[in-house]
Amino acid sequence: MVKLQKPRFVYMGGTLKAWDDANLHIGSEAVLRGLNVFEGVRGYWQPDGSFALIKLRSHYERLRRSARLLYLPFEESYDQYKAALQLLCRELLQPGRDMWFRTTLYAIQGHWGEDTVSDLVVTGYQAEMGLPRAFDLGVSTWRRSEDVALPARIKTGTNYQVGRLARIEGRARGCQDMVLLNRFGRASEATAACLLVVRDGTVLTPPASEGALESITAAIIEVLARGAGIPFERRPIDRTELLIADEIGLCGTMDELRIAKTIDGIPLPSQAPILGQLQNRYLETVRGVTPHPYVDVTPLCPGMN
Ligand code: PMP
Repeated sequence: MVKLQKPRFVYMGGTLKAWDDANLHIGSEAVLRGLNVFEGVRGYWQPDGSFALIKLRSHYERLRRSARLLYLPFEESYDQYKAALQLLCRELLQPGRDMWFRTTLYAIQGHWGEDTVSDLVVTGYQAEMGLPRAFDLGVSTWRRSEDVALPARIKTGTNYQVGRLARIEGRARGCQDMVLLNRFGRASEATAACLLVVRDGTVLTPPASEGALESITAAIIEVLARGAGIPFERRPIDRTELLIADEIGLCGTMDELRIAKTIDGIPLPSQAPILGQLQNRYLETVRGVTPHPYVDVTPLCPGMN
């Protein structure tokens, strides 16, 4: 299990603060009701020696959509958002280590949706640089909530309570991540990543209307798959299709593209030729080895190495 890192600084209240001073009040809706929206953004060292964030504008826009759905004011422009990341990145970046950032809007004032004030907080962490490790995947008994309850489309911390329960259930079964089914008993996504299922040479992923986040990584994988002549389809996926899949993987900003070894204790074929190929392409793209026009990279800090 990855331990929570405690970086020296965070960005909060428009400035840098020491980690230990970055507190929220117990009376805030952020604490009372878990009212926040967030984005995980990943940065990679590029071949020209710069450090760059991947699809930053798409993350900013999704944060804006999440904020809108929860009636959270979000005043920062894209340039201010980027500047906040830059300020923190300059403090925390280390040569030869990639990073990921969590950019969160917390409701720090307001009551039941009146007079809401939010604050943009950015935290940054060192990321592993190796090939994403293969893992054991299970199917949880916990369900993804509905669009009319707690919509999966909103990237809010509250949505992750079910994911947390699923991970606790998964650990007891020896699984490192779990698929959440939707109310129809079909696959929606995993706890913090989207599902990729290969059947008969086609890569499948459930559409957002099945209870999946509108994933930025899945959109990248779709573009890369099409570019490589691999069919990619967004369609509902039955639970039984997981059990007879040729390959299963997860994709997301943090997970990159990670390949499952087993599903609910059943071994998957030891070779994953299609997801393996897409994994390589994805990593080469975000690391700037094979840039792709769809995958915009935003340099944050000039070369240090
Ligand atoms: N679903 C959930 C629940 C997630 O937390 C994530 C990670 N952000 C994803 C899917 C993948 O989304 P993205 O590719 O945009 O990171």
